[in-house]
Amino acid sequence: MPTSLKEALKAHFGFESFRTKLQEDIVRAVIRGDRDVFVCMPTGAGKSLCYQLPAVLAEGITLVISPLIALIQDQVDHLKELNIAACTINSKLAAGERRLILADLQSSNPKLKLLYVTPEMVASPSFQPCLTDLCSRGLLSYLAVDEAHCVSQWGHDFRPDYLKLGELRVRLPGVPCLALTATASKNVQEDIVNSLRLHLPLSFVTPVFRSNLHYDVIFSELLTQPYVHLHAFIKKALALSSGSNGQGCGIVYCRTREGCETVAFQLTKLGILAKPYHAGLKAQDRTEVQNEWMQGKVLVIVATISFGMGVDKASVRFVAHWNISKSLASYYQESGRAGRDGLPSCCRIYYSPKDKSQINFLICQEVRRKQEKRGCAKDTDKAAIKDFEAMVSFCEQERCRHAIISKFFGDKMPNCAGACDYCCNPRAVRAQLEKAALLNTK
Ligand code: ADP
Ligand code: MG
Ligand code: ZN
Repeated sequence: MPTSLKEALKAHFGFESFRTKLQEDIVRAVIRGDRDVFVCMPTGAGKSLCYQLPAVLAEGITLVISPLIALIQDQVDHLKELNIAACTINSKLAAGERRLILADLQSSNPKLKLLYVTPEMVASPSFQPCLTDLCSRGLLSYLAVDEAHCVSQWGHDFRPDYLKLGELRVRLPGVPCLALTATASKNVQEDIVNSLRLHLPLSFVTPVFRSNLHYDVIFSELLTQPYVHLHAFIKKALALSSGSNGQGCGIVYCRTREGCETVAFQLTKLGILAKPYHAGLKAQDRTEVQNEWMQGKVLVIVATISFGMGVDKASVRFVAHWNISKSLASYYQESGRAGRDGLPSCCRIYYSPKDKSQINFLICQEVRRKQEKRGCAKDTDKAAIKDFEAMVSFCEQERCRHAIISKFFGDKMPNCAGACDYCCNPRAVRAQLEKAALLNTK
């Protein structure tokens, strides 16, 4: 290479350094090109760069698979702004533009560096010959499969077309594959390796434990004024960022639209401007609320879980759950939107047995509905219930919350060092459990 990797990073992407050692190690492994690579890093960690930089430095073209046209468009626009030759072929593309791209791909020396497509496109018969042709001419540098958890039926974003990517690999011999995901579950990771037929992949996985997140659980039925309690928590969490540059903000997750409306209203009444975000709002209003929150005009967004996918904001000082999540994996992902900048942040669940039985009912109902449609039971059904039980036991156990999460994901035991309510004060956790038990025997 004529220049060092760091210089290339600066020249093409304008970054002074790699975000983490892990990101640099991945880029180097991809460039070496002798092994498939598996990457699991949380959202916002900078996974795209792990294939974009090698793609720019390689001779040929990198094929990137991504599940949604909207996600693809964002990335392509961003790369074009950086003057990197990237484009996408999809069903929405005008015929003329498509012809131009195909002509470039067929030329002896294509200019294109990154070609983004959905898995549906890859499977289409019109596109297949184009890929095989590129491959046989040695012009495919890498195959990058983004959001690779979509291959897994254990995950929540399963897409049948991702399953066909294993066959694609067979048709592209010698092209190293890079699979990227933010999903830390071991089941999902195994599925990715198997489905994509990754061959002895080099694995780069961020540890599950994040020491800057403080976890705690509050039994809401013991509170006389739950909104005042939440308000106090938010005040305290937002004060964490005073002194640092940049105003902190936060997310309150609720299960229902009404929940979002009520909590936002109550918080605003108590003096913190909070806005609801849910599927019942017009798309335009949703976008507006999201923008106001991104820009820091509204500090607290009270949302259903539809909010947060792909949202990357560094200064989230707290994530509060007004209702528990449907699985511990979801909870880890949702609460993990806090503290992406590495600064201390708070994750809190307001838990109640009533909430638990409601959500349990909904999950069982959903499982039954799926079984009826399918005509049989499946392992994934049992998994859905087991994952929810893990969420409940996170709330009801007398144990370090970080340890529970790390164990769930099959990671080594973390050194919590007081970053959860149990490790700070185990007696208080017990007292709360005892009080709640009393309440429920009455
Ligand atoms: P992920 O796919 O892991 O969620 P992205 O690839 O979308 O993350 O990157 C998240 C953000 O981090 C983007 O805004 C990206 O430009 C930025 N980023 C990536 N690498 C670096 C770096 N080395 N230095 C600074 N910012 C970076
Ligand atoms: Mg990404
Ligand atoms: Zn702990």
